[in-house]
Amino acid sequence: MQEKDPLIFNYLDIKEEEGLNLRLEPPVAGYAALFDPPVTLKKVSLELNFTVGLDSIFLEGKASAELEMICARCAEPIVRTFEDSFDEVYPDTVEYIDTREVIRETVGVLAPIKVLCSDSCKGRCLVCGINRNKLVCACRSEKANAFDGLKGLKLPDQDKPGK
Ligand SMILES: [Zn+2]
Ligand SMILES: [Zn+2]
Repeated sequence: MQEKDPLIFNYLDIKEEEGLNLRLEPPVAGYAALFDPPVTLKKVSLELNFTVGLDSIFLEGKASAELEMICARCAEPIVRTFEDSFDEVYPDTVEYIDTREVIRETVGVLAPIKVLCSDSCKGRCLVCGINRNKLVCACRSEKANAFDGLKGLKLPDQDKPGK
């Protein structure tokens, strides 16, 4: 039943053991939906430290997520790990300590709004689209070339014979 979930603990067990420290890597599938594409969750790691108080158990936890994201400038995929801590108090009136919600809440906000592959990322050329971290292109000035590209376009009216 309930206590079979690895994130649900029996209150009395922890109290009898005078605390509990553990690290675990829950299956990614349970958290993948917390992230919107192009962010992809690769791994979740948890650290849970329970301390027994007089009439409560205190949880200090750490959650980290390895995420594949896209550089906001050059659009190359990058994998980064983000981590945050959380804590929670469980009164001794509970039979089970269910850590699932606080973990989901913490993991769900680990992805930053944007990331850069490096602070010095040069991004992509606006004209030819090459990744300027890897290649050098011949586009002299991005603005000038963007307008050169328009010169080749014909407007429909230009094809009609004049009166
Ligand atoms: Zn980049
Ligand atoms: Zn270019």
